[in-house]
Formats: sequence, C-alpha cells, structure tokens
Amino acid sequence: MSATQLVVVGGGPGGYAAAFLAADLGLHVALVDPEVNPGGVCVYRGCIPSKALLHVAKLIGEARHAKAWGVEFGEPRVDLSKLRAFKDNVVKRLTGGTGQLVKHRKVTYIQGTATIADPHTLRVARTGAGEETLTFEHAILATGSVPAMPPALRLDDPRVMDSTAALELPDIPKSLLVVGGGYIGLELGSVYATLGSAVTVVEMTGGLLPGADRDLVDVLAKRIGSLMTAVLLNTTVTAMAPERDGVRVTFGGPDAQLFDRVLVAVGRRPNSRIPGLDSTRVKVNERGFIAVDEQMRTDEPSIFAIGDVVGEPMLAHKASHEGRTAVEVIAGENVAFEPRAIPAVVFTDPELAWCGLTEAQAQKDGRKVAIAKFPWAASGRAITLDRTDGLTKLVLDPDSERILGVGLVGPGAGELIAEGVLAIEMGANATDLKLSIHPHPTLTETMMESAEVFFGQATHVYRPKR
Ligand code: FAD
Ligand code: NAD
Repeated sequence: MSATQLVVVGGGPGGYAAAFLAADLGLHVALVDPEVNPGGVCVYRGCIPSKALLHVAKLIGEARHAKAWGVEFGEPRVDLSKLRAFKDNVVKRLTGGTGQLVKHRKVTYIQGTATIADPHTLRVARTGAGEETLTFEHAILATGSVPAMPPALRLDDPRVMDSTAALELPDIPKSLLVVGGGYIGLELGSVYATLGSAVTVVEMTGGLLPGADRDLVDVLAKRIGSLMTAVLLNTTVTAMAPERDGVRVTFGGPDAQLFDRVLVAVGRRPNSRIPGLDSTRVKVNERGFIAVDEQMRTDEPSIFAIGDVVGEPMLAHKASHEGRTAVEVIAGENVAFEPRAIPAVVFTDPELAWCGLTEAQAQKDGRKVAIAKFPWAASGRAITLDRTDGLTKLVLDPDSERILGVGLVGPGAGELIAEGVLAIEMGANATDLKLSIHPHPTLTETMMESAEVFFGQATHVYRPKR
C-alpha cells in the first residue's frame, strides 16, 4: 500500500496537465493510466494523429490547387505504410515527451487501470503486473470518453470502424460511408476523400456541424460537397448488413447501398462507469457525465473530476484548463472554471472555428446582438492564397460594443481564433480591435477589419453604417 496527496486517474490532456501542475506546486502526485506514457485519447487516438493525417491531406489539396497557378505536380502516389509510420512517430515523439516530463517532475506514474475502493482509496490493476492499493487525500477523475456506438450502428465486422480504427488507416477503401457530419466525420472523412476514397456522409440533422453558425458552415459545406461523393442530410442509417463485397447500408428508404467500409462518428460517451464510483457520493447525471461545480468538485469532498467525463464541449484544451482549476482549488486557491470563451476548431479545409457566443445561440436566448462580417474576398492575403471563400464574423453587444463571440471559416481559422478568445477574455470592444495594428498582409487583418465593418468604416469593403 502506498499513499499520495493527489492521485489523478486518466492521463489525457486533462489528467496530465493536472498532475504536472500539482507537481509544480509541490504536491506529491500519482498519475494512473493504462498506456505506457501520458497522452490519453487526444495524443494516442484523437487530436494528434488526426491532425498529422489532415496535414498530409492539406498538402495534397494544395498541390492539386497549384494547377490553377501553373504548377503541376501530377497525382500523388501514397505509400500507406510510410504515412502510417509518420503518424505513429508523431504520437511516439509526443508521448515520449510526456513520459520525460513525468520523470522530470517526479510524478509517480502507475501504468494500469484504477477502481475506487472508498473516497480515499484506489486499487490499480497494473498493466501486466498485479494490483496496487493507493490511499490519497484528493483524487481527480479524468477518465475521458469513448466513441458512442448506438445499437443500430453496431456490427461485429472490422469494416465498420470507429475513429480509433479509422486512424489506423487500414487501407484506402474505394467507398467509405461516414455516419455523422460532426467533427470526426468531416475531419477523417476529408482525409480519406483526399487520399482517394469515394466518401458519402450521412447526417441525422438538417446541417453539418449542428453547433456552429450556418453562415460559417455554408462555406465549409460548399467545399465538402465537392470533395465528398455525397452528403445526405436529415438521414439516418436504419440497417447495416455484412456481405462478402462490402457492408450493405439502408437509409430509411427501400434502397440500400454497398460500401467497402463504414466510419461511425456520432459522438462520444463519457467514461464515468468507473468501478466502485457508487461507493462514493459522486453523482453521475442522466447523460452519463460526472456532476461537478465550477471548482470541479464532485459531491464527494475528496474527489474532483475534469475533462470529457464531466461534460461538453469534449475538447482537449477545455480538459486541460479544468485540470489546472481543480489542482489550484486543491492547493487552496480561491478559483473557478469560468471561461468566457472556449475555442472550437474543425480542422477541415477550410478550417472552421468559433468561440464565445454564436449568433444562433444569441437568437435562441432572445439576446440582441450586432453582427459584423468581413468577407475574405476583400482580404489581400486571402487573394494571394487564392482562397477568398473565408469569412470572419464578430458577435457584439450593440450598446457596449463589446465582443461576445467570434466565428471564422477559412484556411488557418484554427490559429486566428486565439485572438478572438483573448479579445473576449480581456473584455475588448470593437474599438480595441479596430485600433490594434495588425500586420499586413495577413489573415489576422480580417479580425481588425470586421471591427471596422461594425463602424461602417472598413478600408476594404464599402458598407456604410445605417
Ligand atoms: P482522455 O483524453 O479521454 O483521456 C482519458 C484517459 O483516462 C485515457 O487514457 C483512458 O484510457 C484513461 N482511463 C479511463 N478509465 C481509467 C481508469 N479507470 N483508470 C485509469 N485510466 C483510465 N479535441 C481537441 O481539442 N482538438 C482536436 O483536434 C481533437 N481531435 C480529436 C480527434 C478525434 C479522432 C477524437 C476521438 C477526439 C478529438 N478531440 C479533439 C477530443 C479530445 O481528444 C478530448 O476532448 C480529450 O482527449 C479529452 O481529454 P481528457 O483528459 O478528458 O480524457
Ligand atoms: P459530434 O458530436 O461532433 O458529431 C456527431 C454528429 O453525428 C452530429 O452532427 C449528429 O447530429 C450526428 N449523428 C448522431 N447520431 C446520428 C445517426 N444515428 N446518424 C447520422 N448522424 C448522426 O461527434 P464526433 O464527430 O463523433 O466527435 C466527438 C467529439 O470529439 C466532438 O463533439 C468533439 O467534442 C471531439 N472532437 C473534436 C475535434 C476537434 O476539436 N477538432 C475533432 C474530433 C473530435
């Protein structure tokens, strides 16, 4: 039996960020995760491998686009085993790094799976090496989430994949059905389509990326529409049957279609079924999320929870920040997780990003807002990139002129959105953004010029204030 001040269960971006900060603050910390090094879903089978593949897809897309500028590379020849090795090495480098950081910070890393014995005791089934009992003053549960697989989409056939299987890149199927037009469906669907698969996307609701503003999604949808073979909205899969030559899929109607592979990407389920959790006062809500307050406390005073397991948005950076909040609270600081803006980025081409209040949410809440949009067709930088399809949008309080939300679609939107987060967190108003000198020629100017649009004074668009 060993004892620690803090144990963190789960080594994803929530868990390892928490463990590292706790060690930096001088706490004695143990971190438990089944993998050999910290990283969690994000690094091993989520954000990082998908972005490595999307980087390659972007390169292929740009090489094809270059034809329009008089430069021809010809069709790419893809060496799948090399591509897989590149992706796997990216993951290895990053997880090797987190492993080193564990050692530097003297965090006790226990490779295994934890179960809860009581509010101050864990049992860890060590990977391949027996069981260990650990007592703790505080625990942070950061057990993340797993792909949701509704019964109608569950088929015991390797040709039906979840995101983890799809990231393995088993082959480039001639035809791929992607179920779910959300983050994963569009990101991984784009990778496969760019590599040569004929991709069909089916989305249950009336539009792709249901959480984002439609004017932004429209720009992405146009391009996705030309990259994919078909995008079927308001459509669900009603039956799937394995056949020798593929998976036969029925979409509500009488017709069925055969696909070489299917990727199911219909959301993720929180990993809250931790054995022994019911021996504590920790509550799990009806959607399976562990209930916490704004200090990340559960109803059991010794136990905190963070990341995907406590609720949406299921994003790595949200998990990390919650982790840091939990640790600071445990260290005795009077802090809370109260962000004004959590950025969301879909790493497609074009990228789509937003933070803070969306226009759709404002409408739903009946809140009066002003909208200022700057079309990238008026951006010098976008024209040099031959990518004028982008849009930058501000959601503002019409009276205080404060920036409440930012939305972006276009190449690099995922980098640009950070300025929006800073503006919202600092309580910036349209004048602040307008007066901040942005470098020329860059896409960042679209942020400044969208503030100028708000005043009817944008240099590069003529839109007088009414
Ligand atoms: P996780 O990363 O899920 O880690 C939880 C860890 O806990 C896992 O290692 C798990 O094995 C371990 N665990 C579970 N139970 C136990 C137990 N009982 N004992 C010990 N260990 C346990 N987010 C972004 O922000 N940007 C992106 O670009 C992005 N891309 C994604 C792409 C894909 C394909 C997927 C699937 C997800 C993506 N996400 C992205 C989401 C992101 O991965 C998650 O939001 C993030 O990993 C959540 O972090 P976490 O720390 O809460 O948990
Ligand atoms: P998602 O919630 O983003 O999208 C799921 C989509 O599937 C939705 O549009 C939903 O309407 C649709 N859907 C649900 N049931 C369906 C059905 N039966 N048939 C057809 N469509 C159906 O979920 P995801 O794409 O699986 O990703 C899970 C989560 O992982 C995301 O919500 C996000 O939090 C995280 N993630 C983030 C990134 C990123 O930050 N770039 C990338 C990948 C994943």
